[in-house]
Amino acid sequence: MGRRRRRVIKIVKKALPKVYSCPQCGTIAVKVSVKKENLAKIACGSCGLSYEHQLNIKKPPIDIYNEFVDKFLSGRLESK
Ligand SMILES: [Zn+2]
Repeated sequence: MGRRRRRVIKIVKKALPKVYSCPQCGTIAVKVSVKKENLAKIACGSCGLSYEHQLNIKKPPIDIYNEFVDKFLSGRLESK
């Protein structure tokens, strides 16, 4: 006699964090918002660092954020 185990697989959609840590001040206060299909805005609510990112293709906010951090760390980011 076999025992059947029924596994209920719950699909939990993990909400992606909407705020990221700031490469400048270290506070988790960076928000990525996609304004248009090809323009994203990244802004830190703590130190005021902001950046507009042109998108060639639609990307998830985390990718935009990663590019932003890369640019910031390599010094290619123009600060206001
Ligand atoms: Zn900041």
